[in-house]
Amino acid sequence: MGPFRAVKGVQDVLPPDVFLWQHIESIACDVFRAYGFDEIRPPILEHTEVFTRSIGQATDIVDKEMYTFTDKGNRSLTLRPEGTASVVRAFVQNGMHTLPSPQKLYYMGPMFRYERPQKGRQRQFHQIGVEAFGISDPKLDAEVIAMLMELLRQVGLGGLSCEINSLGCSKCRPAFREVLVKFFTPKLGSLCTDCVRRHNENPLRILDCKVPGCIKERKGAPAATDHLCGECREHFETLQILLNDLRVSFTLNPEMVRGLDYYTSTAFEVTSTDLGAQNAVAAGGRYDNLVKDFGGPDTPAIGFALGMERLVALLSDKAVSAEAPVLDAYVVSIGKEPVRKGLVIAERLRMKGFRTEVSYGSSSLKNQMRRADKLGARYVIIIGEDELREGMLSYKRMSDGASGKVSASEAEGLLSTDKNN
Ligand code: ATP
Ligand code: MG
Repeated sequence: MGPFRAVKGVQDVLPPDVFLWQHIESIACDVFRAYGFDEIRPPILEHTEVFTRSIGQATDIVDKEMYTFTDKGNRSLTLRPEGTASVVRAFVQNGMHTLPSPQKLYYMGPMFRYERPQKGRQRQFHQIGVEAFGISDPKLDAEVIAMLMELLRQVGLGGLSCEINSLGCSKCRPAFREVLVKFFTPKLGSLCTDCVRRHNENPLRILDCKVPGCIKERKGAPAATDHLCGECREHFETLQILLNDLRVSFTLNPEMVRGLDYYTSTAFEVTSTDLGAQNAVAAGGRYDNLVKDFGGPDTPAIGFALGMERLVALLSDKAVSAEAPVLDAYVVSIGKEPVRKGLVIAERLRMKGFRTEVSYGSSSLKNQMRRADKLGARYVIIIGEDELREGMLSYKRMSDGASGKVSASEAEGLLSTDKNN
């Protein structure tokens, strides 16, 4: 059997890379907590309709990218390609609209899309996302965008700009759609086959196509922001004022339409030129109709998702890394009884929160010391027959070679004195 290889397009995240992942995740938790967001952990599997109905048939995700299969009970299930649909399903199913508004939730975890694997594009990738329900005021949009930028700043990715756009609502979108259809009708011959289909199903998506011919054809296309109803225009203008108040830098991008059908009004993306073609590190927007579409009460909502792999790649390019955890102590022991004692001492130190290793074999003192050095231990605790008899521990501080004898409880004190130096 074997050796086996991972499935195409999925990756193992190993130490030391994983330290950066953990660092990002822990900062994200802190930032989200500060803004009043709580975690939700929806399942990775959903009924396929959860995604087809919400994301939209004419989108890349539903059209080409879903991991869909029939289970042994003949149900069509899908590995989630994104988080919003699952969170909305959970919100409605659990009656969360009856809780105080707004409900502010975040999630972290793997997503699955059958895409052509390349740099910044995997088939299993990871997102950190948030969804906030129940408030239609642009204050919530501003807060969510500011929170995203603050998160990126705290992980070490300052200086990014956010592109924003407004896609209109169910009142103004239909008219804009007509204008778009008219604009593209004479150009149908030069559009890609996907866009010819989009022209019927969702012409907004043509604005998002990455095929060079379509990019050329859409020059001068009408902008959604020129066709907003009064309410949407005011929402969008207020959002810009609030972002200025919060010192969030942004640019207007009338071409940004987002790849999912459920978005309404505010849409935003954080891009980095360092990422090349796959340049969005995070993206989101309002989806004011989705809760209702899922059978819940009319509930406005907004969210974003951040791509972990792309964020990690950007940080690595900027040489941002996270330190491996420091080894506080390495317990060296010589002789049968001392080895047993060593394990007990290590256990005691671990229970006090000190990262501690012991030697598992019976190698020489010299080899054990060398290993302690290699692992970067702050202290070596040495137990031999003498120490056992005296009920003491010898120690060596690796930073300056200082050494001496201490009791077990004194050793704990010693280890904590310069823990963060
Ligand atoms: P793209 O236009 O790059 O395909 P998208 O619009 O499909 O992105 P979203 O659905 O908005 O992406 O997902 C939000 C974020 O998740 C993206 O900005 C990106 O950072 C990340 N992401 C999306 N698809 C992948 C993937 N296949 N591999 C890695 N990260 C991804
Ligand atoms: Mg995509």
